[in-house]
Amino acid sequence: MAGFMLVCGVAACTTMTVFQVKTPYGRYTRPGWGPLVPARLAWILQEAPTPVIAIALLAQRNVSKLDPPSVAHILLVVHYIHRAFIYPLGIRNGKPTPVVVMALAFTFCSYNGFLQGTMLKELEGRVAWSLLTIAGLGVMLFGAYHNVLADYTLRSLRRTSSSAQRYVAPPNVGLFTWVSGANFLGEIVEWSGYAMLCGGALPAVAFAAFTALNIGPRAVHHHADYCKKIDGYDALGRTAIIPFLL
Ligand code: NDP
Repeated sequence: MAGFMLVCGVAACTTMTVFQVKTPYGRYTRPGWGPLVPARLAWILQEAPTPVIAIALLAQRNVSKLDPPSVAHILLVVHYIHRAFIYPLGIRNGKPTPVVVMALAFTFCSYNGFLQGTMLKELEGRVAWSLLTIAGLGVMLFGAYHNVLADYTLRSLRRTSSSAQRYVAPPNVGLFTWVSGANFLGEIVEWSGYAMLCGGALPAVAFAAFTALNIGPRAVHHHADYCKKIDGYDALGRTAIIPFLL
C-alpha cells in the first residue's frame, strides 16, 4: 500500500509538472537544464536498473509453472531489456538528455523495478488464470507490439541525411492512423494489460497510472507541435493520445 501511495503521489506531481513544463529531453531539449548526456547513453543508464533488479528477482522464482505473475515477470524483463539495451542502440541523431532528467528517470526505474519485482514474487501462486488475467495478457501483448512498431516507425523517418534532425509526420502505420502519440498509447495499453495480468495488484495499477500520467501529456505536446509546424497535419484527422477523443 505504501508503494502504491508513493507511486501515485509521484504520478500526480509528475502530471501537474509535465503538463506545464514540457519534459526537456528529445525534441524539447533546451538550454538552462544543466549538463547534457548523449541520448543513447542516457537511455541505457536511466533504464538499466529495472531489468537488472527484475532479472535478479526473476532468478529467485520458480518459473516452471507459468502462472500469470510469472508470465508478467518475464514480460517485464523482456520489455526492459529491449528498452535499456536494444532500443537505445538504434536511436538516430537523438537529442541529448539533461543529467537531471536522466537522474530522475534512473531513480524512478530503480524504485519501480524493485516495487514490481517484489510484488511479482509475492503474487507467486496467488493469481490464477481467469478472464481478467487472460484478457490482460492479450492487452499487454497488443500494447507492446504497437509500442515497438511505433518506435521503429519513428526511427525509420530519420533514415536519410536530409531528415537527420527534422520531425516529419509519421505515416499511417499502426496506431499512428488515429493518434500522434502511437508509441505512448502502445506503452499505456501495455502496462494497463500488465496490471490486469497481475490481477489488479496495486503496485501494477500504480505503474500503469504513472505511465499514462507521465507520457499522456507528452503526446498532447507532440500533437500540438505537429499541428503548429507541419502544414496540413490537421487534415490527417488524428487526435493526440485517445483515438477520436483527446
Ligand atoms: P518520442 O516520440 O519523443 O521520440 C522517440 C524517438 O523518435 C526519438 O529518437 C526522437 O528523436 C524520434 N522522433 C520522434 N518523433 C519523430 C518524428 N516526427 N520524426 C523523426 N523522428 C522522430 O518518444 P520518447 O523519447 O519520449 O519515448 C521513447 C519510448 O520510451 C516510447 O516508447 C515511450 O513510450 C517510452 N517511455 C516510457 C515512459 C514510461 O513512463 N513508461 C517514459 C518515457 C518514455 P529526438 O530524440 O531527436 O526527438
